[in-house]
Amino acid sequence: MLKNGRGPQAVALVSACVMVLMLAGAGYGATRPVVVLDPGHGGEDAGVTGSYGTREKDVALALALELKRQLGLSCDVRLTRESDRGVSVMRRVELANSFHGDLFVSLHAGGGLSRDANRIALFVQREPKGRATAPGRVEGWDGGHRPHIPESQALATVLQRPLALLAGYDGVDYSGVPLGVAKGAGMPAVLIEVGNLTNPREEGRLESPEHLRRVASAVAAGIEAFLQR
Ligand SMILES: [Zn+2]
Repeated sequence: MLKNGRGPQAVALVSACVMVLMLAGAGYGATRPVVVLDPGHGGEDAGVTGSYGTREKDVALALALELKRQLGLSCDVRLTRESDRGVSVMRRVELANSFHGDLFVSLHAGGGLSRDANRIALFVQREPKGRATAPGRVEGWDGGHRPHIPESQALATVLQRPLALLAGYDGVDYSGVPLGVAKGAGMPAVLIEVGNLTNPREEGRLESPEHLRRVASAVAAGIEAFLQR
């Protein structure tokens, strides 16, 4: 029963809310870009373990969860793992493809072999050598990423800028390599080594939530800049 004439206003309010929800479902929510984050290693595969016991798989997951938090409002962020469990390389790519990702970023913190390593490294799939694929030929799993290599290179270039502004690193490298985790990925794909657990001085920094927040905001800035081009 309606009282004091407030009933129709309440109905109008409900209608406005339903309208907003409908618009969200059909518009903004449905068109957010899909960012796939891949925390490296997991489960029995710890990745690199630092001399004080910090494990790469834990750093990668903490960074991915922080990135998801930072990008969550503007992007639909999907993770290939959200807990400490093993996922095969091929499964990571299958997940990224099933999420229909607009881009794929694999996160690692093992870094260089040297105890003095103090650089950030970006890797993309190298252009395959040899004959170009004949027109019309259906490419296999290995070739599935090939058309996206130029965009992967563009993503790495855009990511390089904010990462280079992070204090405390000696610089950012970028190279093309045979990148297993990009094979078959139907989207731009980059692997980032955000630090070097092989370097004991860097190990403490990679355990710090404050440092990971700074690294995440640099990666997030690069991802957003790439998506807004
Ligand atoms: Zn790794």
